[in-house]
Amino acid sequence: GCGAEGVTKAVLAAAGVVAEHRTELIELDRAIGDADHGENMNRGFTVVVAALADATPETPGEVLKIAAKTLISKVGGAAGPLYGTAFLRAATKAADQSEVDAQAVVELLRAALDGVRARGKAEVGDATMIDALTPAVAAAEAAAAVAGADIAAVLSAAADAADQGAESTVDLVPRKGRASYLGERAVGHMDPGARSTALILRAFAEAAR
Ligand code: ADP
Ligand code: MG
Ligand code: MG
Repeated sequence: GCGAEGVTKAVLAAAGVVAEHRTELIELDRAIGDADHGENMNRGFTVVVAALADATPETPGEVLKIAAKTLISKVGGAAGPLYGTAFLRAATKAADQSEVDAQAVVELLRAALDGVRARGKAEVGDATMIDALTPAVAAAEAAAAVAGADIAAVLSAAADAADQGAESTVDLVPRKGRASYLGERAVGHMDPGARSTALILRAFAEAAR
């Protein structure tokens, strides 16, 4: 199982990967949006790191709640409320469990997806973070059904599927968010939010190894 410490490590790893890929995310958003996704995400996760250093969360849910509240207030744009909702739904799902196991991780991911869908109303194929997160949850579920699957196996399957899902947005006409204003002209570009989702899930998977 994974407790507050393990979840903190995963969130810090996500912050690290967002910082490393800040420029890439800015460039993806420059092509089909307003070039702020990398900056928005890095600003938010930088404050998440500081908030976690100041707090002493005792459960996975408390860690996720700190991340959620910070992302909602600091990221801004379309992605802030969406990522904030994802973390908040996961936090609520984790409630006050002291540890999460592989099956619980699937449930947290599912709750996050449901939150993003409820908030953003995007479907698979609209070229958003939903295109990365939806297959990730399905892959996590399938991986968790395998006997002996641990959290690392579940998250690594999720990250692989998210990478493919993010790739799939290259060929799509965006139907939600700022990129939808470009219509067909956005084809040929990866959605920045799908890319950041895939990066974050990969960071979680690496942290769980
Ligand atoms: P903004 O578009 O306000 O500048 P960001 O650049 O930070 O915000 O984030 C853009 C990302 O948000 C997109 O790449 C997309 O993945 C995601 N997004 C935008 N609208 C939606 C939506 N309705 N549902 C899901 N994801 C969305
Ligand atoms: Mg933007
Ligand atoms: Mg913006």
